[in-house]
Amino acid sequence: MQRIYLISTGGTIEKVYSEQSGVVENRAAKLERYLRMLRLPDAEIRAEHLMNKDSLEMTDADRVEVRDRVAGLLAEGAPIVISHGTDTMVETGRFLEESFHDLKVPIVLTGAMTPLGFEGSDGLQNLTESLLAARLLAPGVYIVMHGQVFPVSRARKDKDNATFVWA
Ligand code: ASP
Repeated sequence: MQRIYLISTGGTIEKVYSEQSGVVENRAAKLERYLRMLRLPDAEIRAEHLMNKDSLEMTDADRVEVRDRVAGLLAEGAPIVISHGTDTMVETGRFLEESFHDLKVPIVLTGAMTPLGFEGSDGLQNLTESLLAARLLAPGVYIVMHGQVFPVSRARKDKDNATFVWA
């Protein structure tokens, strides 16, 4: 069994439509529901929900919370996937890269441009690709989106085309 940790922090991938406010927002964790749709017979996914934020609202303290949670898991020696809003995914990834100099496992950040469950969502694709990439990549911090793998220092969001490109 390959154990993989999955930490969710919010972002568009987990947004829901609020009938009260009429906007999509980060209200509740929804990743685990989609994880159950995947066939992963030899993987043990340990999912945990850390926070529920649009990444534009993430503070330095939130990033420290992510870092501390990752630090707590690194000793387990298993890859870590972090679901995160795309707008500041690179910032968090770079912060993690600066925080950990001797990684023994890959840390993969992923997210979505359209929420899980919405028509045309890229969420399940990105989640699936990230879980596979986390098993194959060398130690380091990466962004995995849309069939592409970027070392975090080489990635940037291309807002116009709603994807990530090489920086
Ligand atoms: N504003 C969102 C966020 O960064 C955008 C996204 O996730 O795609 O949380």
